[in-house]
Amino acid sequence: MCGIVGYLGPRDATEVLLDGLRRLEYRGYDSAGIAVRTNGTVTVKRNVGKLIGLEMALASDPPKGHSGIGHTRWATHGRPSETNAHPHRVENIILVHNGIIENHADLRSELEENGHTFESETDTEIACHLIYEYYKELKDLPKAIRKALKRLQGAYAFVIMSEDDPDHIYFAKKASPLIVGIGKDEMFLASDIPAILPYTKKVVCLEDDEFGWITKDSLVIEDVEGKAIDRAPKEITWDHVMAEKGGYKHFMLKEIFEQPKVVADTMAGRIIRSKAGIEMP
Ligand code: GLU
Repeated sequence: MCGIVGYLGPRDATEVLLDGLRRLEYRGYDSAGIAVRTNGTVTVKRNVGKLIGLEMALASDPPKGHSGIGHTRWATHGRPSETNAHPHRVENIILVHNGIIENHADLRSELEENGHTFESETDTEIACHLIYEYYKELKDLPKAIRKALKRLQGAYAFVIMSEDDPDHIYFAKKASPLIVGIGKDEMFLASDIPAILPYTKKVVCLEDDEFGWITKDSLVIEDVEGKAIDRAPKEITWDHVMAEKGGYKHFMLKEIFEQPKVVADTMAGRIIRSKAGIEMP
């Protein structure tokens, strides 16, 4: 479980991303990172430990820009470290991921044979290399992402930006949560509703096997074959305090009703982390 966010609009992207990550920190706190478009390039900053560490590292010189992506990690493949933290970057492709790429070892070998070298131990970096590989071949990012998605087995929510493409942020979802928040001339992506509620109450919940992109004033959703999907946004009637309570009247009720899911997620994470040799608290 990790928390991911994306933003495109007129606000200070670093502030929006950090604020969103703060509201998602319950989803992961091994490490955190953001990528922000700053004057034609993309600046990536990552830090091990809780989000506060990243906030402190950025405090004196925060990247200034109006679009970006962010991540708070709960490691499954590769120990918590700065190099394993997201966003991952391969040339012009920068992405964050929530989930597990099950066929990462086979894909890593294949990509290594094609000359790719890996910086991290994560399953996520494989997806970044694969998209870059297909982008070089197809020179079209949506096509490259779609082609890569067809090769990935497992669970993912991806939020992807390209240094060459200032106007779009791409996304894909399968078995990990992802929502789009629609504002006035601004768009948000996040793992969960509380991350975006201070900015907008208009939300589109994405479904599995969906891919698409946001611009600052539009949303495109497609199926894996590229067929357009039309989905009207829902108006969230809770405020962000209620949203953090997941619609329950009290946090205690939320905690009681979430117990089966929390135990299942914890067990899944513990098994994966122990197989990956990651120490657990
Ligand atoms: N598998 C990725 C990693 O270990 C994402 C982790 C997650 O979503 O929990 O970095």
